Amino acid sequence: MTATTMDRTRLGQLLARERGEFVRRTPESRRLHEAAAPHLLGGVPMTWMAKSAGPYPLYLDSARGARVTDADGNRYVDFCLGDTGAMAGHSPAATVEAVERRYGRLGGATAMMPTEDAGAVAGILAERFGVAEWSFSLSATDANRWVLRLARAVTGRPRVLVNSFSYHGSVDESFIVTGADGPRARPGNVGPAYDVTETSRVVEFNDLAGLERELAAGDVAAVLMEPALTNMGIVLPEPGYLAGVRELTRAAGTLLINDETHTFSAGPGGCTAAWGLEPDVVTLGKAIAGGIPIGAYGLSAELADRIWSDPEADLVDTGGVGGTLAGNALSLAAARATLERVLTPEAFAGMTALSGEYTAGVQGLIDRFALPWTVTQLGARSEYRFASPAPRNGTESYLATDAELEDYLHLFLLNRGIFLTPFHNMALMCPETSSADVELHLEVLGAALADLAG
Ligand code: PMP
Repeated sequence: MTATTMDRTRLGQLLARERGEFVRRTPESRRLHEAAAPHLLGGVPMTWMAKSAGPYPLYLDSARGARVTDADGNRYVDFCLGDTGAMAGHSPAATVEAVERRYGRLGGATAMMPTEDAGAVAGILAERFGVAEWSFSLSATDANRWVLRLARAVTGRPRVLVNSFSYHGSVDESFIVTGADGPRARPGNVGPAYDVTETSRVVEFNDLAGLERELAAGDVAAVLMEPALTNMGIVLPEPGYLAGVRELTRAAGTLLINDETHTFSAGPGGCTAAWGLEPDVVTLGKAIAGGIPIGAYGLSAELADRIWSDPEADLVDTGGVGGTLAGNALSLAAARATLERVLTPEAFAGMTALSGEYTAGVQGLIDRFALPWTVTQLGARSEYRFASPAPRNGTESYLATDAELEDYLHLFLLNRGIFLTPFHNMALMCPETSSADVELHLEVLGAALADLAG
């Protein structure tokens, strides 16, 4: 069943059937959506929530551990986990307790004063990721934005290099892709402030020759990359690629930033620790405070000294690095509890083992139905892609997109109690995901594929 051999008429019929079933099961979500729509841009609280396999988004009622319940009382095994924001599971008890203590009993979410939790969180991150000095934001996007400023400041160079079809949040410099006629703005980029081809360079993931060529210009302050791509399927690094990136960036005097926001799934210290990487900077966000907003960036001691002793860089007032609520007491209380007591090395071991079961099970289905697909695991995260062999870079993976097939699978699973990440065929395990949850998913996915095969 490739995009060409698959019976597209049948797929269309099945998709219509599943859409009908979705509407039948979710009248309250529909009512809430229609009631809220007049004053919400695009009918949703954040415009990306308009991307839904159904005709409207599901409304959340409650969530705990690996379960979410929608406004109609339908329960789902949640493999989406807030697209990583809830990788610790929804509202884990230790984080709830820390938030109640900070916000309720002690009081003070944000007071322009540091708390003891900040140093504790920074210490844990330094130990896990091997970069010494940390600072906090409210999102991974801002962590990336701010480290790009720091990188330009210390190197005195203007450009940033990213991988084609990577995603690092709404960071202006990152919306660039490769093209037959050279680099170009990523399609759909909304109101860019400037021509991204003037601020950025781009190469394919796994392309060391391309990287060497682009760095040779001597104008790249930093390479901002995920150690494995996770936003266009999962694309793993080929043997020697990451060591080559490190070697080339060092030789070029270019800083290397590992964005571990998603690849944190690889283990307690992300890919950086799991694969023994030596970045100058690590950025993070989403999961580390159990779903309470936070972002973080860690710098090597040497880089931290350089930036802190730069007389031109105004890091303490209006220099463009910082936000009023960044480093706030509530986020850091939540992060400390989540890192110390929920996303522990033991939890990662269990989540990774389950993800292995999931991956093996999906591979079994790919074999049984002779699908030209691949499934790729990165620690606690696993994702299948409609391509075989596995794509080697972002562009190859982008070309394997099949929106209709994806919508059908998502809706079929949703209608039978399984929630996958919209935007992905991605499944993430949290500490409370069970083998039975994985089994249920495989059973339902098997049924979806059997229906499609006819
Ligand atoms: N980095 C990576 C690798 C991401 O996948 C994302 C979001 N998907 C971000 C950064 C930005 O995270 P946020 O939207 O929470 O700022």
